[in-house]
Amino acid sequence: MIIIMKNGASGEALAEVEKKIVELGYQPHVIHGETRNVIGAVGDERGKEKLQSIQSMPGVERVVPILKPYKLASREVQPQPSEIEIVPGLAIGGKEFIVVGGPCAVESREQICQTAVEIKKSGARLLRGGAFKPRTSPYSFQGMEEEGLKLLAEARELTGLPIVTEVVNPRDVELVAEYADVMQVGARNTQNFALLKMLGQLDKPILLKRGMATTIQEFLMSAEYILSEGNRRVILCERGIRTFETATRNTLDISAVPVLKQLTHLPVMIDPSHATGHAHLVAPMCYAAAAAGADGLLVEVHPCPEEAASDGPQSLRPKDFQQMMDKLRAFVTVADREMAG
Ligand code: PEP
Ligand code: MN
Repeated sequence: MIIIMKNGASGEALAEVEKKIVELGYQPHVIHGETRNVIGAVGDERGKEKLQSIQSMPGVERVVPILKPYKLASREVQPQPSEIEIVPGLAIGGKEFIVVGGPCAVESREQICQTAVEIKKSGARLLRGGAFKPRTSPYSFQGMEEEGLKLLAEARELTGLPIVTEVVNPRDVELVAEYADVMQVGARNTQNFALLKMLGQLDKPILLKRGMATTIQEFLMSAEYILSEGNRRVILCERGIRTFETATRNTLDISAVPVLKQLTHLPVMIDPSHATGHAHLVAPMCYAAAAAGADGLLVEVHPCPEEAASDGPQSLRPKDFQQMMDKLRAFVTVADREMAG
């Protein structure tokens, strides 16, 4: 249910309503609007009618049901877009179009530091790099683990770029959270509900990728798992879905951007690297993402793609990344967004 408070309702009235929601066995999530506050009351769907009694409390304008199965993620609860602060002065979902760049996996100090320096020069705002890699084959490189996290922290120290890195196993959440500015949930874990619940208890932004076979609704339900635990800082990332097509690694669902924008207030990013699987297709999909209204990009960049331990064929060289970024600016401007630098 959504409890819509009256314009100018007191803080006391709001606190009373929150208290009542808890008494009735639900969790209140307050969304502070510009003119009025609303409270999303979520919990067991059975018996939610008892929340109707809140209608008569002081300061309450209306109690309305949330029709979508994803509640806190929906625009019904929060019509205005969420701007998610990563570090002071850097947010995703605001006016600025944010580009995250970096290798698929951290491989060495030189590799991650060199990439960080180069992408920063081109205008990237965050550095990505996997230390725990969810590989299709158990015989493939699995990542440098904690050593990789330490190297990411060194690259952050060197460049000031906040880091995005994936957590694969619930067992590693605490460790990864010690280093990461943004915790990534990969496509293979989109519906790992135990992991999502743990991430929902962190005070850290989560970059949630769409699973290769999850529908938009399932994707939003996954976001809901994180939100319902109290973590509001969720960023969605479309990275291509499985179709019959084999010319590309996955099929980039570009229309997912406007579809998600209509359904949810959460920011939406595009990963053109895993979506296409081929470096020469990355730049056009970056432009398409900006044109479609995405809030940013997650792009794989490697100083020497032919030597990459993973995903070399889809990784841009720093000079190609630079070229893409230069051309991207025009698309970002047309989309009424801004880019740093
Ligand atoms: C990645 O970002 O390196 C990754 C493994 O992506 P995905 O989970 O989208 O396959
Ligand atoms: Mn990759």
